[in-house]
Amino acid sequence: MATPADRPPEPSLVDRYGRVATDLRVSLTDRCNLRCSYCMPPEGLPWLPAPSVLTDDEVVRLLTVAVGQLGVTEVRFTGGEPLLRPGLVKIIAAASGLTPRPRLSLTTNGIGLDRLAGPLRDAGLDRVNVSLDTLDPDRFAQLAHRRRLPDVLTGLAAAADTGLTPVKINAVLLRGINDSEAGDLLRFALAHGYQLRFIEQMPLDPQHGWDRSQMVTADEILAQLEAEFPLRPDPAHRGSAPAETWLVDGFSDAHGEPAKVGVIGSVTRPFCGACDRTRLTADGQVRNCLFATDENDLRTPLRDGAADEELAERWRAAMWGKLPGHGINDPTFLQPARPMSAIGG
Ligand code: SAM
Ligand code: SF4
Repeated sequence: MATPADRPPEPSLVDRYGRVATDLRVSLTDRCNLRCSYCMPPEGLPWLPAPSVLTDDEVVRLLTVAVGQLGVTEVRFTGGEPLLRPGLVKIIAAASGLTPRPRLSLTTNGIGLDRLAGPLRDAGLDRVNVSLDTLDPDRFAQLAHRRRLPDVLTGLAAAADTGLTPVKINAVLLRGINDSEAGDLLRFALAHGYQLRFIEQMPLDPQHGWDRSQMVTADEILAQLEAEFPLRPDPAHRGSAPAETWLVDGFSDAHGEPAKVGVIGSVTRPFCGACDRTRLTADGQVRNCLFATDENDLRTPLRDGAADEELAERWRAAMWGKLPGHGINDPTFLQPARPMSAIGG
């Protein structure tokens, strides 16, 4: 892929709108052991064919390019469910050996973390985000189509005990299902020293069933929380963080700092102008946005023997084409062909 003529000779992942991507999301698999209704249908999806999935060595090679040549400083592993990737510990260990060492985190549903938290920390993982939408076992089974709430809670506890902190919880509220649980989830998080963030449901479900009128908005979530807790806007600089955060007066986290709760209003409070993300799918495609409708293939040149500099140049070109915003609120918005589980959330 040729370098776009209007791109300055910058080594980092700049785009036309002055943003610089330093935060890489790597999807390690599109498979999952849950079926959260906003992400995957109950029957699952046709998985990526094994030969198209990057090997552990190929993932590490692309991480080396991202960190060594493109200025990536933060790597988050996700999926699908990244704990299902057999080589996860090995990949984290290799990533933690890169120079300069990137910060390493993982987004997981928590199932299996009781067994893996220690080895992951020893390999160099810094932090985890665990997804938890409900504290009610029946509702969990309704929402995720698997009766696995106890495993998630055990995984969360293991992450905290192991020191993968601050442990963050991601929660998505669905109208008529778990939309009354904002307060309960926050009470649970405060009691355990976890940092809770609510995420507005985004149009990334494979069924294309997302309906704006059904989405529980950031405003609604905040109203629920404010009815039960004394919240104050967090004075800390937000930077490129997707979550707007509030301090919960009278509570502190596991380190004695004021407790916080976050809301990621991806749809009603978009933060595209400050986005510093770049994404790599499990089959080696660069995506410059969660909502991009096109991708740039790195797997083929990688397997054809491309040098690091060529891979870096392709990645730079891919990011240069990033659009100014996700466009969900435009009438012409088109949902990407791949669902969240295959892009990497
Ligand atoms: N399986 C892992 C997990 O659940 O944390 C990692 C992958 S999952 C796709 C990453 C995050 O995306 C989860 O917190 C999940 O709740 C969120 N997510 C998935 N589909 C979503 C959607 N349509 N809208 C908003 N968040 C979504
Ligand atoms: Fe699996 Fe995570 Fe999607 Fe739930 S949100 S189905 S745990 S990938």
